[in-house]
Amino acid sequence: MENTLNIVAAAKGLSHDQKSIIRTLFQCDCPVAIQFFDTDKTAIFQLQDRELILIQNRQVSLTALGIGISEYWQSQKCNGLKIAEISVIEASRNQQKLETSNRFLDLYKQGLSYQDIGKKYGLDKGRVSNILESNPRFQAYVKEREEVCQQQRIDRSNQFLELYKQGLSYRSISKKCGLSESRVRGILKKNLGLQAYLKECKEAKVTADLEKKEKLKINLWDRSIANCYPERTATLWDYEKNHDLDPKKTLAHSSVQIIWLKCPIDGHSWKKKVAHLTTLWQRNGRSGCPVCAGRIRKSKKQPTLVEAYTDFVERYWNYDKNSKLDLDPSVITLGSNKKAWFKCPEDGNEWQVNIGATIAHKWSKGNAGCQVCNGK
Ligand SMILES: [Zn+2]
Ligand SMILES: [Zn+2]
Repeated sequence: MENTLNIVAAAKGLSHDQKSIIRTLFQCDCPVAIQFFDTDKTAIFQLQDRELILIQNRQVSLTALGIGISEYWQSQKCNGLKIAEISVIEASRNQQKLETSNRFLDLYKQGLSYQDIGKKYGLDKGRVSNILESNPRFQAYVKEREEVCQQQRIDRSNQFLELYKQGLSYRSISKKCGLSESRVRGILKKNLGLQAYLKECKEAKVTADLEKKEKLKINLWDRSIANCYPERTATLWDYEKNHDLDPKKTLAHSSVQIIWLKCPIDGHSWKKKVAHLTTLWQRNGRSGCPVCAGRIRKSKKQPTLVEAYTDFVERYWNYDKNSKLDLDPSVITLGSNKKAWFKCPEDGNEWQVNIGATIAHKWSKGNAGCQVCNGK
């Protein structure tokens, strides 16, 4: 048979009469006398020009191309019929398929797998899958179920997140929920809430750390030697020898830290534990410079009570009570902080006072300090 495209091209533009001539020749299947056709003879000669027919001895027969066209027309006619038949068959087949797939869908909804359904109907699971997937109701059902699962996954993930926020570890959550630790980790990793929460935690920690640091700084400053003893630190701190040590960060009462000091009077440099130094600063008004201290000791040796107030000691010192307290007026100096007993030789009044204070306020002004004599 000739190439279909050639045939279609060769059959193009044929008149009704010409088609009829070709059909007649094909049905006869033998040469026909030219006078048999009562049509216009030009139509016949045109067919000969187009090489669809052959005229020999006034006998007309089809060429191979003419036969090809006839066969083509016939097959077209058959096809037209077939298509109509097939579409009816197809429709009923589709209806059957839909019914089958609906049945499959019901089973699937009951929880049967493709394989289970296939066994029931003698089909393999691939076929079952094909039938089911062709059903729009199945598609909708799968989508709906997927959405439900998705929601369940989100809910579970959020539940894990809550537990995590309560301080449970991945391990504890996995034990609680009967899943593996890595599964819990994987589920939580996908939760955007966790990322936000971790970020929040991180920021909170940074803030807390900063606050703590700030507070420590303030505490340190409050208790620093620079803050507690600003003037002395300013005049005595030996910046050279203390190197990077910062008086603002040196605790005023540290019993561990040793610092270097430099005397602004004699340039003497010495080191001491901070706590010892500041105790000394508090006790007396001195800088703590050992050179200055030696000078003071030499130049300002204080006189004893007996040396300075011989008369008052003789008349008022209560030897009975003071000797029991181990107080000796020939040793005690004028600045003594100790309390001593006194007795008035006039009226026998006895009293106990601070030695330094009684000298400063009474003896130095010529008053013995007896309250009876003073009329109080
Ligand atoms: Zn000094
Ligand atoms: Zn008196």
